[in-house]
Amino acid sequence: MSNVADTKLYDILGVSPSASENELKKAYRKLAKEYHPDKNPNAGDKFKEISFAYEVLTNPEKKDLYDRYGEQGLREGGCGGGGMDDIFSHIFGGGLFGFMGGQGRSRNGGRRRGEDMVHPLNPNVLCSTCNGQGGKSGAVQKCTACRGRGMRIMIRQLAPGMVQQMQSVCTDCNGEGEVISEKDRCKKCEGKKVIKEVKILEVHVDKGMKHGQKITFGGEADQAPGLEPGDIVLVLQEKDHETFRREGNDLHMTHKIGLVEALCGFHFTLKHLDGRQIVVKYPAGKVIEPGSVRVVRGEGMPHYRNPFEKGDLFIKFDVQFPDNNWLSPEKLSELEDLLPTRADPPVISGDAEEVDLQEFVSQSSSGGHRREAYNDSSDEEGGHHGPGVQCAHQ
Ligand SMILES: [Zn+2]
Ligand SMILES: [Zn+2]
Repeated sequence: MSNVADTKLYDILGVSPSASENELKKAYRKLAKEYHPDKNPNAGDKFKEISFAYEVLTNPEKKDLYDRYGEQGLREGGCGGGGMDDIFSHIFGGGLFGFMGGQGRSRNGGRRRGEDMVHPLNPNVLCSTCNGQGGKSGAVQKCTACRGRGMRIMIRQLAPGMVQQMQSVCTDCNGEGEVISEKDRCKKCEGKKVIKEVKILEVHVDKGMKHGQKITFGGEADQAPGLEPGDIVLVLQEKDHETFRREGNDLHMTHKIGLVEALCGFHFTLKHLDGRQIVVKYPAGKVIEPGSVRVVRGEGMPHYRNPFEKGDLFIKFDVQFPDNNWLSPEKLSELEDLLPTRADPPVISGDAEEVDLQEFVSQSSSGGHRREAYNDSSDEEGGHHGPGVQCAHQ
């Protein structure tokens, strides 16, 4: 029965079965944006299908089951619970098996993919057809086999006069303590009282919220008859940014400038996190020392719940010096005339020894250079047909 070549879920996301988690994520985000019910109300179940495929393929256990046994693997490896599952049958057709929840809820709680702004959630909800009763009113009967306790005591005789008492789950009611006769059972939830539902939670991340901060959706977790549903808690995870690093309400960044900017002033533009372009100015006459830090007040992160108050933006300057011999000796002396005067020349005694000052590249960075150089040349040479070999033949 196993259907090893099943790739439907990959097809839904438009990726190959060898796609990495990152590629899956990318594909999912793109499609989820496109087919989100808010944006695309006519897309039917497309968004649910995408979310479903993504949930299975990013869950290591489910993905493994699906990769090895296809649809069947998912049905049989299902975590039980739930009743009919519209999306499953929508994708695969045929039987209706619920398995989307189980451990899924905590995974979708945001811990693993905190930066996603749209989370498909599949909590149990009370079946609307039977109002969470499992069947027609009065159809639910206490299980007679276990007298409603859900467990049965079995007594086994091991030897004359020696018995073993064993407690086991009642098989008549599967430990529920009640039974619903086949004919009165709710067709929608198959008597389970709850069904899995894909829920879309919109997450509003307020300005100034921080890494690890929790957003709680009261009462959105699994519903069960007679129980108040718990909360779904999302934990924010800050994403690394290529320019800015956050420290509390402040932002830090490094900016490269040349020697001329360091000595003669500059201005540069910067795209801020909120999309604004800001112009950072430093007037002629002011000097930036290599590695020094300057601050732009009020261009950090907005304060949480007080977004008009903002932290500061700290800019560390990486001053790029020109290469060796960048200027002719004549021009150098012209430049020297413009630069601040040298310190007084040192007094050199007759027996002083003159030594050379040489280039020095620290161990770690020279290793990096060598590896880069090696990679570069091997790429160009393409294995055996390197230029060295050809030279020898000519
Ligand atoms: Zn029972
Ligand atoms: Zn029902």
